[in-house]
Amino acid sequence: MSKWSSWLPLRQELRELSPYGAPQLDVSVRLNTNENPYSLSPEVCAEIINRIKDVVTNLNRYPDRDALTLRGELANYINMQSETDFTFTNIWAANGSNEILQSIFLAFGEKAMGFLPSYSMHPLIAKTAKCEWVAGSREPNFSLDIVKASLAIADAKPNLVFVTTPNNPTGTAIEISDLQLLADECKKIGALLIIDEAYAEFASRESAVTLIAKNSHVLVVRTMSKAFAFAGVRVGYLVANSEVIDALLLVRLPYHLGSLTQAAASAAISMSDRLLSDVAKLKVARSEMASALILMGLNVVNSDANFIAFSGFSKSEKEVWAALVQSGILVRDIGIPGYLRVTIGTAAENAKFLLALQEVLANG
Ligand SMILES: *Cc1c(COP(=O)(O)O)cnc(C)c1O
Repeated sequence: MSKWSSWLPLRQELRELSPYGAPQLDVSVRLNTNENPYSLSPEVCAEIINRIKDVVTNLNRYPDRDALTLRGELANYINMQSETDFTFTNIWAANGSNEILQSIFLAFGEKAMGFLPSYSMHPLIAKTAKCEWVAGSREPNFSLDIVKASLAIADAKPNLVFVTTPNNPTGTAIEISDLQLLADECKKIGALLIIDEAYAEFASRESAVTLIAKNSHVLVVRTMSKAFAFAGVRVGYLVANSEVIDALLLVRLPYHLGSLTQAAASAAISMSDRLLSDVAKLKVARSEMASALILMGLNVVNSDANFIAFSGFSKSEKEVWAALVQSGILVRDIGIPGYLRVTIGTAAENAKFLLALQEVLANG
């Protein structure tokens, strides 16, 4: 039974869906959406305000439709991180990487494939864009078996293949040599390989952007929401061959990225060193968190991101989740039986979480 009224001519495939979103509860410690827990430094805030002041008097005008300046700055940032030599022609920017993903589906989506458990927005956006979705699988330890994955790709013959690395919600990463093997498999069947690197800055591995020069069918999706502590602004971007970028221009809405957003993002990128300094701190906190969970007798999934999936508690994940909410702590129920995911927060937040978890597990 659908909850929708019969007079509403909602598309059939949408009638069974619910809007995506983690609960936004009013609790003191929120470790459920993988945000960077540190707010922007006063220097970065001042620079953003300065840049916004410059554009405020021009808000009667549409923004730079192609965000040329911002795209050039993002190209420089990637080049600096990965020793590549991209220009603005290799970058597209939008309101969060979810909009980038949507544009990819709108431009190319006929039959897409991904390997679960992974980012649930990939199949969801596929559905809203009327793209067929084939669900491949990961191993019980959440790694991706490249031989099996390659066979599954050859068998399903999608025209889009999605992999997330480091993967959300598990944190597991894929070696660059394995990504090249997947790219080879995709090339054989004329598919694009889309690598979602939302957590790239937290990983100590080479970015897949280094594959693009020799693999024009590899697309890398990045975001400023996580490492850059910029989730509230909504900026995501794509690094790809310039012909891929040109294709996305066909489906983008005119003036999609506002002047205020472009100005704020430019300011943040100009101070990227400052912003990324918290990433090192979070990586240390991640290993401390893993050790603490292991000391409590739990199992942790090895993570290259700013969160940890853990298991090994005797109550159900729903019970532990609810008991933590009672203690004012919000973690993520990721829909994998026996597992929960915690985002790395500030030292104080992590300590509160660990203390509350210990109490929850001790009680019954
Ligand atoms: C958080 C996340 C995103 C993106 O979010 P935006 O805020 O829309 O940039 C994309 N992919 C994965 C895997 C994520 O975890």
